[in-house]
Amino acid sequence: MSSSSVEPPIQRAVAYIVSQELCKISSLLPSNRQRSYLVHALINTFRLTSRVEGRLLKLVPPRPAALKELGAYHTRDYIDYVLDDGAVDEEDGDSSEFGLEDDCPRFRGLSSYVQLVAGASLTAAQTLLKPSPLGGIHFDIALCWDGGRHHAQKSHAAGFCYVADCVLLLLALKRAPVTQEGRKPRVMYLDLDLHFSDAVSQALHTPALHTGVIPQVLTLSIHHSAPGFFPLSSLSSLPDPSSSDFSPFSLSLPLKQGASNSTFTRIWPSVERVRAAYKPDYIVIQCGVDGLAGDPCGVWNWSLGGEGGLGWCVNHALQWPGKKVLLGGGGYNSPNAARAWTYLTSIAMDDPLPLDSEIPDHKAFPLYAHSFTLDVPAGTMQDTNTESYLSQVEVRFGEVAALIEARDSLGT
Ligand SMILES: [Zn+2]
Repeated sequence: MSSSSVEPPIQRAVAYIVSQELCKISSLLPSNRQRSYLVHALINTFRLTSRVEGRLLKLVPPRPAALKELGAYHTRDYIDYVLDDGAVDEEDGDSSEFGLEDDCPRFRGLSSYVQLVAGASLTAAQTLLKPSPLGGIHFDIALCWDGGRHHAQKSHAAGFCYVADCVLLLLALKRAPVTQEGRKPRVMYLDLDLHFSDAVSQALHTPALHTGVIPQVLTLSIHHSAPGFFPLSSLSSLPDPSSSDFSPFSLSLPLKQGASNSTFTRIWPSVERVRAAYKPDYIVIQCGVDGLAGDPCGVWNWSLGGEGGLGWCVNHALQWPGKKVLLGGGGYNSPNAARAWTYLTSIAMDDPLPLDSEIPDHKAFPLYAHSFTLDVPAGTMQDTNTESYLSQVEVRFGEVAALIEARDSLGT
């Protein structure tokens, strides 16, 4: 008997996009300094990369994105400007034109950051599209915790985001081979970050309802909404099928202050209905964690665990048919971001860590005071999402799902 025949068959193969270089360069991001180090160190210290029976978490190093790949979305002028390392110390008038000011300052390493973070998300796409050259593994899920920069625009940086890796990833997945039924692949983008996915929704927006064609990408952003809350976008309100610019493929699910597990439990069937109507072949989930309790944004009161928690939602989405990419995103309590993405990594492996797991001793251990456990529990903030509002959400999304089903039944 050969040694390979005694290995248990792999039930789930997960690609974990990481390298020392990616971790080092992502840790320089001004809005999230050192966060990447904490995330990858915690995943490593929980030994999630060791093979467990029937499951494989394989480290896949990213490659830097080529200029041409960045140009699939960004303008040439923007690419040339952000990749020019010589301009870091220079004051020039173009910084504001390209959004490199205020919350998106230039920083040393920006050019490598842009190329490597874009390359990381494109590597995630590639692992799902082709068998790995290392052993011919077919990956079901790819994890890219340094990606998920959903505010970066075509020609300017915005909201701590310098590169539109989400858009580049979606464009790459659109080019996947036709399905067994002979139709073009469909990709669903689900954004769980506290903030609306303005740049992604705008980039993939297909305004015309009357064309009758089912677009290859559907975007759905569940986010906080309040007057003046970043980012302002005409696409960020509850879908209204009676409105002239309505599209059932560009969806927004705004929530109010204090959104908690019970609100997510209530809205989740609406997300499921849209998914079932659209029948995507690939699902990209932006897992921003700035809506978790304890984040400095202080807006929602969402937990990592429990029914309706972030882990529960992602676990449900991972049960859907199709291949998945999980991305990072916002999250300004870095130890909590590390807790959350470590927990989601264990969920992606179909072997969830207990939430009361003690943080193993490692260099960053003191930062996990005072609980020193994996959990990110809810706080005391009141959830202001009322039953009447949530039932309005349910009705609107029911209409949206029915419209997608009707369009799909026409075979377009
Ligand atoms: Zn955010």
